[in-house]
Amino acid sequence: MDERVDVIVCGSGAAGLVAAVRLSDLGLKPLVIEKTSRYGGTSATSGGGIWIPNNGLSSQPDSKEGALRYLSHVSNGDFRRDKLEAYVEAAPQMLDYLQSLGVAFVSVPGFPDYYSQAPGASTDRSLFPVEMDGAELGIDFFYMRELPSIFKLFDRYSLDLEQSFALSAKEFGWQWVAAKLILKYWTDFAWRRKTSIDRRLTQGRALIGGLRKAMLDRNIPLRLNTGVTRLLETQGKVHGVEVISNMHTRQIEASQAVVLAAGGFEQNQTLRDKFLTVPTKSCWSLTPKSANTGDALKAGIAVGADTESMGCAWWAPSMQIPSLSVPNVDEVQPLFFDYYHPHSLCVNRRGDRFVNESCPYDQFGQAMVRDQQKSGANVPCWLIFDSTFRRKYSCGPILPSFVMPDDRLPKDWWEGYLIRARSIGDLAAEIGIDGDVLADTITKFNGFAHTGKDADFGRGDGGFDRYFGDPDCAPNPCLGRVEAPPFYAVKIDLGDLGTKGGLKTDSDARVLNTEGATIEGLYAVGNSAGSPFGDCYPGGGGTLGPATIFAYIAARHIAAGAGKNL
Ligand SMILES: Cc1cc2nc3c(=O)[nH]c(=O)nc-3n(C[C@H](O)[C@H](O)[C@H](O)COP(=O)(O)OP(=O)(O)OC[C@H]3O[C@@H](n4cnc5c(N)ncnc54)[C@H](O)[C@@H]3O)c2cc1C
Repeated sequence: MDERVDVIVCGSGAAGLVAAVRLSDLGLKPLVIEKTSRYGGTSATSGGGIWIPNNGLSSQPDSKEGALRYLSHVSNGDFRRDKLEAYVEAAPQMLDYLQSLGVAFVSVPGFPDYYSQAPGASTDRSLFPVEMDGAELGIDFFYMRELPSIFKLFDRYSLDLEQSFALSAKEFGWQWVAAKLILKYWTDFAWRRKTSIDRRLTQGRALIGGLRKAMLDRNIPLRLNTGVTRLLETQGKVHGVEVISNMHTRQIEASQAVVLAAGGFEQNQTLRDKFLTVPTKSCWSLTPKSANTGDALKAGIAVGADTESMGCAWWAPSMQIPSLSVPNVDEVQPLFFDYYHPHSLCVNRRGDRFVNESCPYDQFGQAMVRDQQKSGANVPCWLIFDSTFRRKYSCGPILPSFVMPDDRLPKDWWEGYLIRARSIGDLAAEIGIDGDVLADTITKFNGFAHTGKDADFGRGDGGFDRYFGDPDCAPNPCLGRVEAPPFYAVKIDLGDLGTKGGLKTDSDARVLNTEGATIEGLYAVGNSAGSPFGDCYPGGGGTLGPATIFAYIAARHIAAGAGKNL
């Protein structure tokens, strides 16, 4: 054996780092290994939100019972009661722990759960990280994964969630928000001499930055460019890992446990084809390229682990953007909010609507899956909008036309990304949809916009829909007629924020084998483990919530097993 530690944590996303810091605070010596040259995983590129019911940070009354009622209702009828109970119990404790480390969070008042009409639903359970000064990380600042371009202004100035909302919705005073950011960045003279990367860590980078700082304070080692290839197991007990580092294979022994926190299989096309229920492409995923390729899943299965929820992903529709002439825009971008706006609708390739377009992104993705299975004409589908939408709202990097008129859009965006036509019939012909069907769909939709009642899909009925609606649009803030030429179309792919099927674990995050017994010494957290929620995404922060909470629980269980005082 080349090296020996107490616990090996595979993966440096939020799940891995929470586990490592907590293990250290409970008296164990963890080692974090990370396959890529950057730490932070998808977590660093994310919004950094965590879904924490009963969190004590908001004035909104909440309770364990209310949260359980909600989860039980939305997660396919109590999918995993044991894990749901563990989640709700540990959520406020984990939050207190993060805050004690200096990783601060705020709630966004009124931010609704994603099934806002379900029993037990509430608001203010989604918490977002407070910004952090990256200078506190010293040289490690430069090894953290970057935010995607959607969370930065001009791919340069870091945005927090509030600023992201203000700019994307062009809220009153958005120009001041932008001006202040730019001024602050350029007057940071000493830092500007060092690097063009904004030292203001926001969203997922604030979460990962805070955790990395806690690791540095505790001298917890992090080894980059080191990937787990196999688990070492003897007589049913996992006691180490084989890794590949700089083309050398080595073995590391863990006296207490191995924690798999290496994300899902979203970047592995073969595993996607095998497990996801409809054909998808890894390039539609919004996660870092080539990072999470299902290594933890394969290593776990090789030692007899069971799996669950393998057909599911954290869906977030995405669009492919030709960015040859626009280097500061990512090639794949999420449509988190774009399809919510009035004066637009989404149709499958037959020209039919299939979803309440104002629903949360995961439910939109699920509707794409269902419609693909039914009609065979979804995945991809189309977002259709008119010039009123074009004037008022953004669609990914396409800013409203008063900021970015059509003739100022990059030329290559007109080559398959954004389609424009003078009439609905012409637009339908351009995108290969039957013109009569599309015209009928839009006529019916415009009738709903006129009455304010979407009789087919209930768009604008729920609290979530209205939270993101346009208050200036009456009688329904989510429904506006699609009638002012020219008309536009953007293709929507079935993107994701990661897969949610993984190794089956118990409520202490221990991996279970196919007989339902625990595999000694092996834990899985984050997207390496099957989601506790089955096929649902309960609210903003619904993936980092379980990732951090079960990492916290796993550390506690490992420390208890090692005889540490909790
Ligand atoms: C744009 C965007 C916004 C998002 N916003 C939110 C949000 O606000 N709230 C929320 O809850 N979720 C959000 N998500 C989803 C969320 O980021 C992920 O579900 C979450 O980060 C997964 O965490 P993890 O720790 O399991 O994996 P990751 O953060 O992906 O970390 C896994 C790490 O393991 C490493 N690794 C992989 N294989 C190996 C190996 N063999 N050996 C060693 N290391 C390995 C990877 O390189 C990676 O660094 C968002 C996602 C995206 C893309």
